[in-house]
Amino acid sequence: MSITAGCDVGSLTAKAVIMEKGRILASAVIRSRARPEEASREVMDLALKEAALSINELEGITRTGYGRGRMPFEGKEISEITCHGRGARWLLPSVKTLIDIGGQDCKAIKLKSDGSIDRFITNDKCASGTGRFLDVMAKVLGVPVEDLATCSERADHPVTFSSSCAVWAQADVIRLLNEGHGVDDIGAGINNAMAARVAVLLNSIGLDGDICITGGVAKNLGVAKALETQLGCRVKKIRKADPQLAGAIGAALLAEERLK
Ligand code: ADP
Repeated sequence: MSITAGCDVGSLTAKAVIMEKGRILASAVIRSRARPEEASREVMDLALKEAALSINELEGITRTGYGRGRMPFEGKEISEITCHGRGARWLLPSVKTLIDIGGQDCKAIKLKSDGSIDRFITNDKCASGTGRFLDVMAKVLGVPVEDLATCSERADHPVTFSSSCAVWAQADVIRLLNEGHGVDDIGAGINNAMAARVAVLLNSIGLDGDICITGGVAKNLGVAKALETQLGCRVKKIRKADPQLAGAIGAALLAEERLK
């Protein structure tokens, strides 16, 4: 039957995907717990329940993400870079350059023509350019992070942030609100600041072929649009499945490939 699973425990969310012959049977996303053991078990249980399967019926599991070494079930450990690359290729076969923007880091990845990793650069030293930046800014602004994207659509005069530092930008949001700037204009400015940070990483790896975003921040279309402006080229939208699942999808596919 060749049913496999990928489990990706990141800093903010845990994801599980169950696949059969290159097709998604079930998936789940939850907030990460302090202990990756619990998050991985819970998210796998949810996906298995949706697929009406038990863990013993899986023929292979790949574990990825920062919590990959602490999952309470057997499975090969593979880095999230490799898994995101594989997942992105499945989500968008033409992709050559991708940016995975997760909760606490951001990785620009270049793929070879066979889909394997050519090279990558990571920003994991600074909150700006990560999902955490958007989460913190949205909170100060009083908007759910899921609604930040629509600020960009409604903004008439997006603000410009003087600093990309997450700490300074928080103070900027409060100052801008006090000066009477609208929430949409500030929200759009936040998306633009995020895109500017990410564009630096992408430009330093070099743009090549089709470009896409994976990770939870791919769901913020305001960032995606601002990134197109920054890069001066199109950023392809992922429509085949939730881009936040890219790492777990790649992990499940790699488990399937091992069976062959
Ligand atoms: P990690 O794998 O590092 O735990 P994710 O790839 O799950 O992180 O990304 C988490 C980030 O995705 C959050 O910080 C948040 O900014 C963003 N995010 C998640 N869901 C949405 C959504 N529906 N709309 C906009 N942004 C989202």
